[in-house]
Amino acid sequence: MKQNRLFLLIALLLAGGLWAYGTFFALPRLPHRRPADATSPGNRRVEKTDAEWRKLLTWSQYRVMRNRGTEWPNSSPLTHEHQAGTYVCAGCRNPLFASQTKFESGTGWPSFYKPLVPNAIYTEPDGNRTEVRCSVCDAHLGHVFEDGPEPTGLRYCMNGVAMLFRSATAR
Ligand SMILES: [Zn+2]
Repeated sequence: MKQNRLFLLIALLLAGGLWAYGTFFALPRLPHRRPADATSPGNRRVEKTDAEWRKLLTWSQYRVMRNRGTEWPNSSPLTHEHQAGTYVCAGCRNPLFASQTKFESGTGWPSFYKPLVPNAIYTEPDGNRTEVRCSVCDAHLGHVFEDGPEPTGLRYCMNGVAMLFRSATAR
């Protein structure tokens, strides 16, 4: 009996360690490829070196946006933000999503059913998922899934740390 419990403990620690490694320390799983046909609003582009991004972003932003990490669920105050406004990219201020398209997905991550304009973002295959990136600075933002609400049926599952909220009422 005692041995079983010890085995279970070791298995749990191992699984937890692997999960933490994949979530927090893993290097980018895919090389960066910007699709040749990707466009951005007003053809705006922000390109910086890795060193410049490290300086500009916080550690958590850098880990998610430039290293394709995923924030801890429910860690972002934006997950349950419901004021009227716009969500912009934390790296380049590109307007990404409108509050009107935000919904409670129950996942612990800010979720939207469509981007503000179609070319605010672009997508790339990421294993069995579809990655979402900022079309202006190529930052990793999250993933899009096909189990969202009407009218699109899409769920843009975003990392709150990759976005800033601009309230419509604030001056
Ligand atoms: Zn951006």
